[in-house]
Amino acid sequence: MAQRITILPEIITNKIAAGEVVERPASVIKELIENSLDAGAKDISVEISAGGRRLIKITDNGHGMSREDALLSLERHATSKIRTDSDLEEISTLGFRGEALPSIASVSRFRLASRETGSTEGTEITVEGGRVRDVKACGMAPGTVIYVEQLFFNTPARLKFMRSAETETGHVADTVARMAVSRPDVAFTCISDGKELLRVQRGDLMRRMVQALGKDASSNLHQVEFTGDNIKISGFLSAPMTVRSSSSSIFTYINGRFVRDKVIQHAIMQAYRGVIDRGRYPVVALFIELSSGEVDVNVHPTKHEVRFRRQTIVHDSIQSALENVLRNSPWLSHRPLQIKPEPATVSKAYLERIASAAQASLSLPVNRSEHYSYRNDLLPAQTRVSEPVAPFMPEPATSKQQAYFSSLAVIGQFHSEYILCQSGNELIVIDQHAACERVAYQRLKKQFEADGVESQRLLFPETVELSFTDAATAIRFNKELSQIGLELEPFGGNTVIISSIPRMAIEKDTTALLRDVLTDLAQVGASNAFRDIQDTLLSRIACHSVVRGPHRLEQRQISELLRSMDETDFAASCPHGRPVSHTIHLSELEKIFKRT
Ligand code: ADP
Ligand code: MG
Repeated sequence: MAQRITILPEIITNKIAAGEVVERPASVIKELIENSLDAGAKDISVEISAGGRRLIKITDNGHGMSREDALLSLERHATSKIRTDSDLEEISTLGFRGEALPSIASVSRFRLASRETGSTEGTEITVEGGRVRDVKACGMAPGTVIYVEQLFFNTPARLKFMRSAETETGHVADTVARMAVSRPDVAFTCISDGKELLRVQRGDLMRRMVQALGKDASSNLHQVEFTGDNIKISGFLSAPMTVRSSSSSIFTYINGRFVRDKVIQHAIMQAYRGVIDRGRYPVVALFIELSSGEVDVNVHPTKHEVRFRRQTIVHDSIQSALENVLRNSPWLSHRPLQIKPEPATVSKAYLERIASAAQASLSLPVNRSEHYSYRNDLLPAQTRVSEPVAPFMPEPATSKQQAYFSSLAVIGQFHSEYILCQSGNELIVIDQHAACERVAYQRLKKQFEADGVESQRLLFPETVELSFTDAATAIRFNKELSQIGLELEPFGGNTVIISSIPRMAIEKDTTALLRDVLTDLAQVGASNAFRDIQDTLLSRIACHSVVRGPHRLEQRQISELLRSMDETDFAASCPHGRPVSHTIHLSELEKIFKRT
């Protein structure tokens, strides 16, 4: 029988590895910056053109490579960072797999120039699609420069997945900002098509935070400090008024490495439980230091995932570290938090230890003089003070036609959240928030289909500092945003000015609305279009136009709502798919009370 199996040539295995490590320009940049940091660079500059699709150039002043090392660095599994099996248990560098350079070189036109400290000249190696084309001596400053041109030129499938230059630029800048946050001792620059996106000097942590987290969050940060058994946690968290609709503003680092980890994320969300609404995420930057034996980073090629030796301790330490700050923070002083530890995972002794450690290290907010004013409707239901808020009320219905909802006899309001009605033998419970949202959504949809969502110019245009990705999305979808009532003007850098907003969302949190809409829009890729998500966007606006949480309604307002519901094309659910009303038949009650 003929032999069926062959060992693949290296040029193909490199391409396969590239499939895992190199997803887009930003992932190339992450790998190259990791290499520069591992080489002890104190100055790293990133330049891209066309979002990194045409060119990525990274220059560092690290220890550089000799000619031999430079040639070796392009071989698969060639690394200076580990040597033995046991080194794998104690990884203290960002890299160790020896895969990034050969992978990147296999899917681009690649050039590496490096000069070792103490050497008089550098070496330049040119590689094309994984094949070395040229090796020569070159004059250069000590350090390393890497050029990656025409990424994915020889992998058309990957090329198709790349987004617009603006979107890729956004990802690149976010990546650089994220890495800059983890290493305040290193200066970073990021330039896109000649335009400076980011420049941070050594030591300037705050500016990095602004770049990575956004200005609104960074002006209201509180410091986290915690020391436990084999674990040290430091960082910052935002006040609960600053929330996001995705977890993209949760930055977590383990031993300087940016990670996305479920255990950490869960611990953070546990700490914020009851403080922010469901589906909302805080802005958090956490630096977790563990001895290297406590954490395994050899889980995934991108090294974004990790495994902990003692997961519970890590989880509970993070949760407690955050809870201590949240509990002692001024915005909640009038209403203490009721945070209960998960009984199964935290022992009393452990909690006491954490409490005393946190007591000793608890720091004051970064901005001590900050005055904690907040708008009532920005707060989650649990923390909102109970003064009444004018709810979004549908305009009085014009139709005289008597229909189902307006024919109901109103019994009253339950818990300031539900409307109870009667019709014959039926008790009808209406979720007032869901109903308002549905009515608002239908109205927006009508407006959108007619002439675009009705918008209102803001008397005082609002300036918003966005993340790089969000700013790129805002520019890309400027026209579409105005169709849904959001008029934006670029204001240099990542700042935009909101000049008009949907009329229905007036007096609501405009910035939060914009951020949510941009998060939704960022999902629009090459494979789908704006119209695929326009309903999602309209429901977003609807959601922002109505008051959340309990509020009392007057009889008149209830009648108006019921009338508007009759005018609404009700699919018996709110735009999020939750039910709007629920009917309980008399016979069901009789069954409950055993009358039958
Ligand atoms: P890894 O980082 O996992 O070791 P890479 O393929 O990323 O694998 O890099 C291979 C080797 O090339 C590294 O171990 C390092 O010795 C060397 N190297 C890569 N980039 C640089 C750089 N910017 N400065 C100095 N040495 C570098
Ligand atoms: Mg590396």
